[in-house]
Amino acid sequence: MPAFKCHVCGGESATDQFVSEVMDVEGRRVMVQHIPAQVCNRCSETSISRETTERIRLLVHGAGSPVRTVPLEVFELA
Ligand SMILES: [Zn+2]
Repeated sequence: MPAFKCHVCGGESATDQFVSEVMDVEGRRVMVQHIPAQVCNRCSETSISRETTERIRLLVHGAGSPVRTVPLEVFELA
């Protein structure tokens, strides 16, 4: 694995974790779970590799099917 360098705080250590991301895809809001990511030990910024990002893009644009549908509560900080 190449040396980690946080693009937010410049921290150089991270922990490999699985994260969930919510994203908008053609007007739908979808969640992708179990994304392998590096989480900065200093500021908790999540970094997802280019390869993984591409896999997610293919998945949510039709290569995969959702494992389930859940209601989503949306909050807005006014
Ligand atoms: Zn950081």
